[in-house]
Amino acid sequence: MNKYGLLGKNISYSFSRNYFNTKFERQNIDAVYENFDISEIEKFPEIIKNNRDLKGLNVTIPYKESIIPFLDGLDKKAKKIGAVNTIKINEDGKLIGHNTDYYGFKNSLTPLLKPKHKRALILGTGGASKAIAYALKKLDLEYRFVSRTASKKVDFTYKGLTSDIISSHQIIINCTPLGTVPKIEDYPNIPYVGITSNHILYDLIYNPEETTFLRFGREKKAITINGLQMLKLQAEKAWKIWNRKS
Ligand code: NAP
Repeated sequence: MNKYGLLGKNISYSFSRNYFNTKFERQNIDAVYENFDISEIEKFPEIIKNNRDLKGLNVTIPYKESIIPFLDGLDKKAKKIGAVNTIKINEDGKLIGHNTDYYGFKNSLTPLLKPKHKRALILGTGGASKAIAYALKKLDLEYRFVSRTASKKVDFTYKGLTSDIISSHQIIINCTPLGTVPKIEDYPNIPYVGITSNHILYDLIYNPEETTFLRFGREKKAITINGLQMLKLQAEKAWKIWNRKS
C-alpha cells in the first residue's frame, strides 16, 4: 500500500491526515496518510529509511525551509520561493521539493480581485509568507512585508504602520499564527481603523473559521477569506504531483 504523510512539529491537530484519509476512503484509493511529528529536522532521514512505501509528504511548520538541504532537488517554483510544502518521492528514491501553497493562495485570491485591489501587505515573514509574495508577484500586485523586527527585507514594523498605510494597501494577508485555536482572541496589531469596503482581508488560518482579524475586517465591510480553500487547493495539487510520472 502506498503511504503519504505530513511532516511537522506538534501536528496532531492537522487538517491533512483527515482530508487525505477521507479522500482515500471515498475514492477507493488503496493508500494511507500518516503524521510524522518530529522534534527536529535532523530526524527526517530516519523517516525515509523506515518507511520504504512512502510516495509523498506534505511539510508544515516549522520545517518548510529547513527541509531543503535534505532533498535531492527542487522544482522551479519551490526554488524561486525558497520554501517547500510538498515532497515527491520518485521511483528511484530521489526526494524532490515542490511548493503548492503558492498555487492554493493564488487560485483562491484570484476570483476576489478587482482593479481597485492594487497593493498588498503581508503580515509575518515565515515560510508561508514567501509563497504568498511569489503569488502576488505573479498576479502583478505590489506587496510589502510587515514584521515585528526591522530588517532589509522588511518594509514596515507594526509600530510603523499608520491608518494611511492600511488604507493604501487594499489586500492584507495574515501570515502569522496570531488568532489560531486555542488563542482565538489574538490578532495582528495593525490600525484596523484604516480598513474599508475596498479591502480584502485574507487569513491563512482556517481554525477558527473566522479569526478576530477577519471579524475586524468584516465589521469594516471588507471582503474576508480564511485559509480553508487555500488548504484544499494545495492538498489536491500535492496529490496531482505525487501521482505524476516523474
Ligand atoms: P512560521 O514560519 O512560523 O511564520 C510565521 C511568522 O509570523 C513568523 O515568521 C513571524 O514573522 C510571525 N509571527 C510569529 N509569531 C508572532 C507573534 N507572536 N506576533 C506577531 N507575529 C508573529 O509559520 P508559517 O509556516 O509561515 O505559517 C504562518 C501561518 O499560516 C500559520 O498559522 C499556518 O498554519 C498558516 N498556513 C496556512 C496555510 C493554508 O493552506 N491555509 C498554508 C501555510 C501556512 P516576524 O518575525 O517577521 O514578525
